[in-house]
Amino acid sequence: MTGDDLQALALSALGDIAGAADADQLEEVRRRYLARHGGSIAEAAIELSRAQGEERAVLGQAFNAAKRTVTEALERRQAELEAAVRERELLAESLDVSHPLRPLDRGHQHPVARTVREIEDIFLRLGYAVVAGPEIEDDLHNFQLLNMPPEHPARDGHDTFYLAGEAAGWLYRTHTSPMQIRTMLAGQPPFRIIVPGKVARRDNPDPTHNPVFHQVEGLCVDEGVTVADLKGTLEHVLGQLFGKRRGVRLRASFFPYTEPSLEADVACGICLGEGCRSCLNKGWIEILGSGMVHPEVLAAVGVDPDRYSGFAFGMGPDRITALRYGIRDVRELYENDLRLLEGF
Ligand SMILES: [Zn+2]
Repeated sequence: MTGDDLQALALSALGDIAGAADADQLEEVRRRYLARHGGSIAEAAIELSRAQGEERAVLGQAFNAAKRTVTEALERRQAELEAAVRERELLAESLDVSHPLRPLDRGHQHPVARTVREIEDIFLRLGYAVVAGPEIEDDLHNFQLLNMPPEHPARDGHDTFYLAGEAAGWLYRTHTSPMQIRTMLAGQPPFRIIVPGKVARRDNPDPTHNPVFHQVEGLCVDEGVTVADLKGTLEHVLGQLFGKRRGVRLRASFFPYTEPSLEADVACGICLGEGCRSCLNKGWIEILGSGMVHPEVLAAVGVDPDRYSGFAFGMGPDRITALRYGIRDVRELYENDLRLLEGF
């Protein structure tokens, strides 16, 4: 091994380094020339250890020069290759604005929320205000001021969740009517409000019941409000919700806070009142409770019943949604099964 041999090796290495196309090939070149065992330049060091005198000094310089040249060339090439990789990555990351988008999954309102929103829109156009109230109420607003004193039999129909412990004395509202009371206590007629919200009763879940459900209650109090106004309002609202061809029928009923009390039915969507298998030959479907606000209720909240009269109503958006979309079991509306919800 001579100094010329080492120079030739270094030149050969420079050619291989320039030809290395990636980090792996470059590593292969490094090993071929510089590996402690088997690298051709490194092998020269073994001969160097045997050389003597001036030959040892010359060979030593040639070895160091060759090693430095090759090492520096390796580092430069490695930096070039890394820069090329970064460049490719940057190019790949640049935006192709013409690339078609993967369709995004779109959410939408829950069908019950949509029904509530539609009901709100209908009443807003009639000049009603939408108000919200607390879900936790006291006995006074949920019952007593609605003409249901303690021990009143109508309370049996409101299977109530009472709070325990420190919250004893409070209850989960069984209807949104307490907000009618709160509204009347806070001002003077005219009142035109609807109260959408969640309510709860201790019902066992079945196809037509869920312990937590939605209500939209409404109240209209002014001078000279009559049953005809109530009927006209309900016919208009139910016509908007179900279509005008489905008739509305009012039947006498009983609620402690209205007198007279009326239940509204909407004609079966299939037979329009004639009676068919779908409606079990009834022809009509119960849709809401309503009536003229009881004078005792008005008097209890400081509204003069000799001067003012009004009507109130309450409807169930869950049931209305189920009827409109042909859902047989209202519990499906609470299970959040996307396969069902995506169908709306
Ligand atoms: Zn029918």
